[in-house]
Amino acid sequence: MSAEKNAKIIRTVKENENTTTVVLDVEDDRFSNFAPGQFATLRVMDNGTWSKPHPFTISGAPGDKLQMTIKGNGRFTSEVIPALDSGAQVQCAGPFGAFCKDISLKEEIVMIAGGVGITPFLSVLRHFARTDASNACILFWCNKTFADAFAAAELEEIASRTNLTIIHVLSRETKPDLYYEDDKPHIRFEQGRFSRDMLARHIHSPSASFYLCGPSGMQETVLSELSAYGIDSAAVDKEAFVYNGA
Ligand SMILES: Cc1cc2nc3c(=O)[nH]c(=O)nc-3n(C[C@H](O)[C@H](O)[C@H](O)COP(=O)(O)OP(=O)(O)OC[C@H]3O[C@@H](n4cnc5c(N)ncnc54)[C@H](O)[C@@H]3O)c2cc1C
Repeated sequence: MSAEKNAKIIRTVKENENTTTVVLDVEDDRFSNFAPGQFATLRVMDNGTWSKPHPFTISGAPGDKLQMTIKGNGRFTSEVIPALDSGAQVQCAGPFGAFCKDISLKEEIVMIAGGVGITPFLSVLRHFARTDASNACILFWCNKTFADAFAAAELEEIASRTNLTIIHVLSRETKPDLYYEDDKPHIRFEQGRFSRDMLARHIHSPSASFYLCGPSGMQETVLSELSAYGIDSAAVDKEAFVYNGA
């Protein structure tokens, strides 16, 4: 465990109703020289004492100011984080983890994200966009509605100039007009939960490298659909956002 560093909130960005990005100033090069997919921990001052360290994926690209994109879950993420003001002092440790390790070396990549599980892929794709990477990427982003896909516009812009196709998998979307965007070949919509049929429609190379990040229930469903489609689920690189507060 690396030592904690003092850091300062530069700004917070409300991404949607329950998701906030915090951008931090921290004097430690490791937080800008991390590998996309890694996480850091964050402690904040809460009622006069330091909170426990909570892990969050670094959602920016290497070289950016340290940023984390946080969805409200318990009290820390839904009350303490959104209330942070610019200039607030916090503590960070990291970077940690090996999710998406060496992903830049993979020519064909399939990323599957559930909700805020998009954060490691945001980091990877922001990095790919900045480095003009040519890796062929397919991103399945599973959300309830399109309004939940807070980074959709930025990802669409990245897809327009990189080798990225985005498939928004929406389980409860009620706007049928979303499903007919033929003028945007790199943006597709699927209705329902992630399924083997969706894989058949969009994956043309089962030898691609697969990455999965999302809640554990969603991961189980996705892995079983991948297996049914003939993908070795043991070969899927996975990150679970499991935090039990210990
Ligand atoms: C490697 C990694 C990367 C992650 N990256 C991200 C990310 O990029 N973005 C993101 O949004 N999240 C991410 N997470 C998840 C994030 O760390 C947790 O959601 C967050 O720390 C939980 O904060 P909380 O507000 O629920 O905490 P607290 O309110 O302190 O709750 C602590 C824990 O106890 C549980 N809990 C709270 N109240 C109860 C109760 N009454 N009974 C039982 N259990 C309860 C909560 O579910 C929580 O798990 C990541 C986790 C890991 C491990």
